Amino acid sequence: MRPAILDRLFAPVAALAGIGPQLARLVERAAGPLVVDLLWHLPSGIVDRRATPRIGALHPRDWPDGSVVTVTATVERHQPGAGRRPYRVFVSDGSGGLMLVYFNVKGDQLQRLLPVGAERVISGRVEYYDGMPQIVHPDHVVAAEAAEKLRAIEPVYPLTAGLSPRVIARAVAAAVERAPELPEWLQPELRERRRWPAWREAVSAAHNPQTAADLAPESRPRERLAYDEILASQLAVALVRATRRRRRGRALAGSGALQARVEAGFGFQLTTSQRQAIAEIAADMQTPHRMMRLLQGDVGSGKTVVALCAMLIAVESGAQAALLAPTEVLARQHHHVLQRLAKPAGVEIGLLTGREKGRARESMLASLASGLTPVVVGTHALLQQDVEFRDLALAVIDEQHRFGVEQRLALAAKGRDADTLLMSATPIPRTLMLTAYGDLDVSRLTEKPPGRRPVDTRAVPLDRFDEVARGIARALKAGAKVFWVCPMVEESENADLAAAEARFKALSELLPGRVGLVHGRMRSADKDRAMAEFADGPVALLVATTVIEVGIDVPAATIMVVEHAERFGLAQLHQLRGRIGRGDQPSTCLLLYQPPLGEIARQRLAILRETDDGFRIAEEDLRLRGGGEVLGTRQSGLPQLRLADLASHATLITVAHDDARLVLDRDPALATPRGEALRLLLYLFRRDEAIQYLRAG
Ligand code: ADP
Ligand code: MG
Repeated sequence: MRPAILDRLFAPVAALAGIGPQLARLVERAAGPLVVDLLWHLPSGIVDRRATPRIGALHPRDWPDGSVVTVTATVERHQPGAGRRPYRVFVSDGSGGLMLVYFNVKGDQLQRLLPVGAERVISGRVEYYDGMPQIVHPDHVVAAEAAEKLRAIEPVYPLTAGLSPRVIARAVAAAVERAPELPEWLQPELRERRRWPAWREAVSAAHNPQTAADLAPESRPRERLAYDEILASQLAVALVRATRRRRRGRALAGSGALQARVEAGFGFQLTTSQRQAIAEIAADMQTPHRMMRLLQGDVGSGKTVVALCAMLIAVESGAQAALLAPTEVLARQHHHVLQRLAKPAGVEIGLLTGREKGRARESMLASLASGLTPVVVGTHALLQQDVEFRDLALAVIDEQHRFGVEQRLALAAKGRDADTLLMSATPIPRTLMLTAYGDLDVSRLTEKPPGRRPVDTRAVPLDRFDEVARGIARALKAGAKVFWVCPMVEESENADLAAAEARFKALSELLPGRVGLVHGRMRSADKDRAMAEFADGPVALLVATTVIEVGIDVPAATIMVVEHAERFGLAQLHQLRGRIGRGDQPSTCLLLYQPPLGEIARQRLAILRETDDGFRIAEEDLRLRGGGEVLGTRQSGLPQLRLADLASHATLITVAHDDARLVLDRDPALATPRGEALRLLLYLFRRDEAIQYLRAG
């Protein structure tokens, strides 16, 4: 149960004075449904109202259009609006006259606000009309006695349509007012070192910025609040992880015999990274808790053989292993490769996809159930209810981000205390990794197999298209295989398709019989055929939408053309480019772009030309776009951070990660005073679902 001290913050925003149901809806849309959401709704700017010129001094030379001024003046007369003419109120301070202009405001309301003869303090943006200073809809009009209620420096909040700056500011101020003093959950040394204020003080300071610098993510109050948020999320994932690690698994110790035999047949040496990853996985499988490990490695870093070695550990222990791939094409490719690699060990590799039907499917199901087939590769078809194993001990999920959370766990659920190995070709910066997958153990392949040549990457403006086409024609004549990636049109698969089909037609006319097409809407059998004709058939140029992004291996392909490269994300371009440069021939990637390039697009293309290190590219991507996009969190429903900014608070993430693990080592039940305070923190950031894990443990 949420501690009572937080109740006032977890009330609906309508509980705040002056926020009726109608305003509440707008405030909710801008900030969130609860009072606590308003605390996290930080100002995006400030308005400085300290300038108090005499009206006679208002002149465009000294007070240009838009200057914020606060004047004290006496109301002289009203001029009600008529037709399209606005309502005007004339005021003066003896040195000159100022006109206040109101559109669509009722006269009686203005009579009350600005009675003739009364003195008022008026603040707003000055402009000039026929040389006369005026303020349209002043931000503030208050009686002189109430002037001290005006804040000299006012925070400006992000709005939503229909919500006035004054209303949101008032709502936030009321929320801040409600914030109680809370016991400290941070380590005193950390607070001291960073010179962070206490929580309540930080909230109040973050909402009372005095200078533009106070709005920066590095300002002490904001940094502290960001750290609180990160710590809450790190603590939540650390709790999940700690609980999982207490769950019973099985100790799988392979003999190494099968691994040794397949390795002898690889025809290459494993890289240091691969060896280390295999050792980490083996050690994890050997302990009696359930493995949940992510193997991260850029395209071409050689994850498949690592997965094979892991699966052989299960087989050596007398159990079974399964590999789940996101598409039919990939499943077949894996099956093909693994069969070849596993042959020296005499290990049978089964295949089960949506295309295995009838008798073939029946017999595969039977041999999985009897244990006759020790290793199976497949698509979602593996997850169907009637697929049973004699003894599944390891589930491998390739391209894990393509599966939902439940699907990732569903395969292992077919086993008995089975281990899970997730694989991802999306290099994720460490900081992001910790926020998104902090509960997983991670192995990384940081180097590529030797002998790869870097892809020669060039950015070419679209107006040199003819030149590019001629160059491609020459290369094709010399026997090259070419990927031609078509522009991605936002949010519209149909438009993608139309563009790809049009390009396919145009290129087919130039090169009859030698151009293929593959796109996401094709039936998987047709896709396979198109890929096969490209890999070992007559097709020399394959027009594709981004379906080729994932896992396709055609070592003979040495050229890639990406049309409208400026529309692709950095990580996506990197993934695409990973399709070439896989063989021993030099490769070229031509990024065609539509000039003029925006600044971010220009930087993206420059980074791609500079490096092919996926982790570095991911860091840059993060910097250019912010975390959510890199991971596709918007789709995947991963928790969004509101106060922390992954780029500017990167170091805090690592600190919080270590902090959280240390806390749970020392105080696993969060029972010490600091532990109690940390529970509050979890509630405050709505990570309290993690608290159940405390009790379970
Ligand atoms: P990915 O990590 O993208 O799944 P793959 O497992 O498909 O990469 O490996 C890419 C290619 O590199 C494959 O052809 C594979 O046989 C080869 N390969 C893997 N490890 C090595 C190595 N240590 N030395 C040389 N080639 C390797
Ligand atoms: Mg792969």
